[in-house]
Amino acid sequence: MDLSYTPEEEEFRARLREWLTKVLPTLPAKPSPDDWPARRAYDLGWQRMLYDARYADVHWDASPTVRLIFLEETEKAGAPYVGANFVGLLHAGPTIAAEGTDEQRARWLPPILRGEEVWCQGFSEPDAGSDLASLRTRARRDGDDYVVNGSKIWTSHAEVADWCELLVRTDAEAPKHRGISWLALPMDAPGVTVRPLRTLAGSAEFAEVFLDDVRVPAANRVGAENDGWRVTMVTLSFERGTAFVGEVVACRRVLGELADEARRNGRWDDPALRRRLGRLNAEFRALWRLTQWNVSEAEASGGVPGVGGSVFKLRYSHARQELYDAAAEVLGEFALDLERRWVLDRLSSLAYTIAAGTSQIQRNIVAERILGLPKGR
Ligand SMILES: Cc1cc2nc3c(=O)[nH]c(=O)nc-3n(C[C@H](O)[C@H](O)[C@H](O)COP(=O)(O)OP(=O)(O)OC[C@H]3O[C@@H](n4cnc5c(N)ncnc54)[C@H](O)[C@@H]3O)c2cc1C
Repeated sequence: MDLSYTPEEEEFRARLREWLTKVLPTLPAKPSPDDWPARRAYDLGWQRMLYDARYADVHWDASPTVRLIFLEETEKAGAPYVGANFVGLLHAGPTIAAEGTDEQRARWLPPILRGEEVWCQGFSEPDAGSDLASLRTRARRDGDDYVVNGSKIWTSHAEVADWCELLVRTDAEAPKHRGISWLALPMDAPGVTVRPLRTLAGSAEFAEVFLDDVRVPAANRVGAENDGWRVTMVTLSFERGTAFVGEVVACRRVLGELADEARRNGRWDDPALRRRLGRLNAEFRALWRLTQWNVSEAEASGGVPGVGGSVFKLRYSHARQELYDAAAEVLGEFALDLERRWVLDRLSSLAYTIAAGTSQIQRNIVAERILGLPKGR
C-alpha cells in the first residue's frame, strides 16, 4: 500500500481547490434541516454542479486515492454534504455498478450522477434489524412482476426518494439467508405508503414504508432471485466501508474549531481537556489512515470494501460521539444555544452506533471474520 500522492493526484487536488473557491460562494443558502423537499432540491443541485464540472463520478470511477482527495478537499472547503444522495451515490449506486446488468446500470446510474433521482434503503423491518435475514416482506412472482407485501422501518429519506433498494423474501421455505432478493422499488408505485418518523433531534429524517400489493417488475431485481443476501453484503460493505469516509474529515475540522474555541474561552488551560482533544485528534488521524488502507485494499480486490469497514465503522461511530461529548465540555452552557448545529450534531451522533449495523454487530463481525473466533449463537 502506497499512501503518498503522485504529481497527477496533487494536480487534481489543486484544480479541485480552485473550482471549489469559485463555486462555493455562488451556492444558495442552506435550507432548514426540517425542510426535506428543500433539502432534496439543494442536495440534487449540488450534485448537478459536480456533474457539470466532471466531478460527479469520483465516488465510482476515480482511483481510491483521488476519491479520498476529493472528500478531503470538499470537506475542508465546507462544500455541501452528499445528504439526500447518500444512498444513491454511496451504496445503492455502487451495488448496481458491481452487481447490475448493463441495462440496469444504464437506467439507474446516470440519473444518480446527474442529481436527478434520490434513493433510499428499505432493509430494516420492525422485527429484522440486526438480524436482517429474518426479514418478512414477501414478494410473490406474478408474470413479469413481483407482488410485494410487508413493511419497512427507519427508511432514511423515504419521503423524498424516487427509488428504494428493497430487500424482500422470494422463497419462504428456504433457509433465511437463501430466500432473499434485492429489488429496485419505484417509490411512486401504487400501494407504497410512507409515514415519516420524528427523531429526538426534531426532524423527520426517516420513515416507515408500507407495501400493499405493490407490483415491481422482475427486471428491477439486481442479482439472481434468492441471491439477494450476497448482494446485500455488497451494499453493506460499501455502506460501512466507504460511505462515512468524508465525515472523518468533517470531524477533524470540528476538532480544530473546538480547539480554537477552547483557546478563546480559557478552557485550553485545562491539561485534561487538551489531552482529551489531543487523543481525539490522534484517533481521527488513525481513522483516516485506516480509511486509506480500506479503500486501497478494496481496489486491490475488485472494488468492494472488505470487513475492514466494520473496524472503521465501529471506531468511527464511537469517536464521533466522544467528539461531541468533548464539544459539550468545551462550549459549556453555550453548547445549548450558541448555534443549533451543536445540539443537533450531538444528538445525531447518538444514532451512529446504531445505523448501518450496531456496534455489537460490528464487534461480532470483527470477532468472527477477522479474529477467527467461534460464531456467537
Ligand atoms: C439514523 C439511522 C438511520 C437508519 N437508516 C436506515 C435506512 O435508511 N434503511 C434501513 O433499512 N435501516 C435504517 N436504519 C436501521 C438500522 O439499520 C437498525 O436500527 C440497526 O440495524 C439495528 O436494528 P434494530 O433497530 O432493529 O435493533 P435490534 O436489532 O433490535 O437490536 C437491539 C439491541 O440488541 C443488540 N443485538 C441484536 N442482536 C445482537 C447480537 N447478535 N449480538 C449482540 N447484540 C445484539 C443490538 O446491538 C442493539 O443494541 C437506520 C438507523 C438509524 C439509527
